[in-house]
Formats: sequence, C-alpha cells, structure tokens
Amino acid sequence: MHDLPRPERGGEHRLVAWCLAALFCAGAALGSVNLFVEGALRDGVSRPLFAAALGACLLLAVGLVVRQHAGEALTAVLVLLGDATYVLLAWSTGDPLRHAPPLMLLFGCFVAAWFLGTRALAVHMLAVVAACWVALAGSYPSTPLLLVHVAVSAATLDVATLGVFLLRRRVQRLLAVTQEMSSTDPLTGLANRRSLVDQAPRIWRQARRDGQRVGALVLDLDHFKRLNDEFGHAVGDAVLRSVGSALAASVRPPDVLARTGGEELVVLGLVADPSEARRLAERLRLAVKGSVAGQQRQVTVSIGVALTGPTDGEDPTDALWRLVDRADAAMYQAKQGGRDRVAVAGSTVVPFRRVGSSHPTAGGMA
Ligand code: GH3
Ligand code: MG
Ligand code: MG
Repeated sequence: MHDLPRPERGGEHRLVAWCLAALFCAGAALGSVNLFVEGALRDGVSRPLFAAALGACLLLAVGLVVRQHAGEALTAVLVLLGDATYVLLAWSTGDPLRHAPPLMLLFGCFVAAWFLGTRALAVHMLAVVAACWVALAGSYPSTPLLLVHVAVSAATLDVATLGVFLLRRRVQRLLAVTQEMSSTDPLTGLANRRSLVDQAPRIWRQARRDGQRVGALVLDLDHFKRLNDEFGHAVGDAVLRSVGSALAASVRPPDVLARTGGEELVVLGLVADPSEARRLAERLRLAVKGSVAGQQRQVTVSIGVALTGPTDGEDPTDALWRLVDRADAAMYQAKQGGRDRVAVAGSTVVPFRRVGSSHPTAGGMA
C-alpha cells in the first residue's frame, strides 16, 4: 500500500487554540487580582492601561475560541506573546515575587512544550530566562543572588518544559507505531482492510475531481489450501509474502493494494475505462505467477474486476463494498472459468457523471 494518509492535524490545531485561549484567560484572571490588591501595582503604572492590557488578553482568548484554529506560526507567536504578557505583569507589580512569581509561566511552558516546533521551543526557553530576569531583577539587591534565583527559576521551568517535550515525542512515536500497526497487515506488510476503507473517500474524491472511474480488482489465489496441505503453512506464508511484494511492485503508485482476507487481496484505483482495468489485472496476474518463479510450486490467481463512477451524495465506504462485491462475483466467474484468469463484471451499466455535467452517460464494463 502506498500513500498512507498523514495523521489528521485539524484536531491538534483546535486543541492548541483552546489551550492558548485558556493561557490568556488565566493570565488575565491572575493579573486582574493585582487591580484589587492595595499596593500591588508599582508607582507610576496606570491602572486603566494595566486593565486594558488584561482586556486585550481576554479578547485574544475569545478570538481563539471563535476561530477554533491556531497553526504552527500563530502558536509560536502567541506563546511568545504570552511570555511578553507575563513580563508586563511582573514589571507592573511593585513586588513581582509576591504578585507575579515566575511560576506563572508554567502553563505557557506546558503549552509550548506540547505544541511548538523545536526551534520555536528553544526561543521560548530563552525567553523564559529573560522573563525570570526581568521579574526578579528588582527583588534582589546583589547580582550574584539575582543570578542564582534566576537560574533556579528558569532552570525549573525549562526542565519542566523539556520533560513535557520528551513525553510528547514519546507519545507521538507510540501513536505513529500504533497507527502503522492498525493499518498494516502483519504478514505481508501491505495495507489491511481498515486502511482500504480509510482510503476510499480520497479515491472517490479524486475520481470525482478527475472525471475518472474507480476500479476494484479482487484477487484470490488459486488452490491455496492445496499448497498449504502439500508444503505446510510456513511455505504458504512465504508464498503470500512473495505474492504481496510482487503485487506491490506491479500496482501503480497511487493505487491501494490491501490484503483483505487469508489469500484474498483487493486493488483499488482510478481507471479511465474497463480495458485499462483489464490490462492492470492481467499485469497483476502475471506478477503473481512470476512471484515464485524458479521454485517447484506454482502459484496462480483469479481476478475479478468491477468499475463504478462516483455519484453525488453517496457514501464512499458503502460504494466501496458494493464495488468489491461486484468484483468478487466476477472473481468467482474467473474461478469457474478455469482459474488463473481475469473476469470483468459485465452486464451492469454504471451511471457515470463528469464533474459539472448534469447528464449521466453510460459507463458499462467490458
Ligand atoms: P480456490 O482456488 O477456490 O480459491 O481454492 P483455495 O484453496 O484457495 O480456497 P479456500 O478458500 O478453500 O482456501 C483458502 C486457504 O487459504 C485456506 C487457508 O488454509 C489458506 N490461508 C488463509 N490464510 C492464510 C495464511 O495467513 N497463511 C497461510 N499459509 N494460509 C492461509
Ligand atoms: Mg479465498
Ligand atoms: Mg483461493
């Protein structure tokens, strides 16, 4: 199987938008406490201006919730803006250690560690050091003492960030392995039935866009039970692997090749007409035959072919199984016809509508 779908990122973009909104809400809420605590704001800081800055944070949060989406670049900018907001809060208070401690950066660090790319994350980690410096500068009279406290605060925050980042990498790796396992057939390494279903919407979309038909080929190895009985299951498994490799090398790159059952496989792809589908099926039939060339045993395959045109409003999964059922019926005709051959589903006329055309045209099988 080629062209496995990339992990869906829309959900993550929505999640990061919510997290950033929560980050700005939390910042605004904590900052607003200083408006009501006597002596919290430093002399010369205008309360209305401070309140306006907090209001801007809330507006940003509302904007994110409405938008429900934050891409990579926007996330990086907003995380750094969060750091800058903290610096503003710390600077505005008379005693940042009491009213805006560096611990306030922790939530931003978690968001950064989970969502930022490595470069933006490195910038954020440096920004944390600078933010700690600004926040603590007024609280320590001697530079060495200040240095020690900045180092302790920034290191604590950055180590927590790194920890979450490493956890994220581990989770992502496990997720990738799980996704790979759930979509791959363990014996042959080909796509499995689930992956075939997952890719149906993409193929139906492409067929609609390109004005092509979808072709399904159902392949069933001939007398495979006999081969198992004669040579043993281990040899049967090795033959299945060889057949899988030979087919993978013979299908066209965008086609989907899946092992859907014991010795049954399905190829799904776009075709212009039945003769193109038949040519592909013949090529695959010969590839199976050649997959055990030079060995004593012979392997052949019977292939059934069916085509369909995508129609408005149909569910690709339902359409896929209807198409596979027809190809399966054609495959049984090939078995009855003597095996080691191709049969194309025949009589049905499939309505086929080009994009932009309101009149269906006949699109029958050969
Ligand atoms: P036909 O030409 O009619 O398809 O005959 P057949 O023997 O291939 O068909 P049948 O469905 O009777 O048998 C299929 C066999 O495929 C039965 C089973 O032993 C074998 N088989 C299914 N899955 C595996 C597998 O993973 N490994 C091995 N070695 N054999 C398998
Ligand atoms: Mg079978
Ligand atoms: Mg069989």
